[in-house]
Amino acid sequence: ENPAVDPDCIFCQIVAGRIPAEIVHESDKLIAFRDTSPKAPVHVLVVPRQHYRDVRELAFEPQLMSEVVRAAEEIALQEANGDFRLVFNTGASAGQSVFHVHAHVLAGEELAEGAL
Ligand code: 5GP
Ligand code: ZN
Repeated sequence: ENPAVDPDCIFCQIVAGRIPAEIVHESDKLIAFRDTSPKAPVHVLVVPRQHYRDVRELAFEPQLMSEVVRAAEEIALQEANGDFRLVFNTGASAGQSVFHVHAHVLAGEELAEGAL
């Protein structure tokens, strides 16, 4: 179910350093890097180093899930005023296009305009 690495996965390749990314935060379990098509002034993806397909799988690892949220908090404090939006697109029909779980951390001015 959870192979540590999927050789066809673009985010596994970023984790492995085989594809470059602008990394803004790292720990032993996670990396965070800028989205190449930013949808907000701050748009960072928080990605567990291990390959999980989506947040439904990540939910079985509550410690890691918690670390994702704490990383988002640190990034938003580092790069904006500390407020942030956390988005997990889950499944193709919800807009997920990369099937290695990632939290979109969106922050910066103008964010309230697009609030749900
Ligand atoms: P999803 O649509 O799966 O929720 O989000 C995937 C995100 O990954 C998109 O916002 C897309 O811009 C971003 N993305 C796709 N490929 C790359 C890449 O190679 N590098 C980086 N930094 N972001 C990527
Ligand atoms: Zn992966």
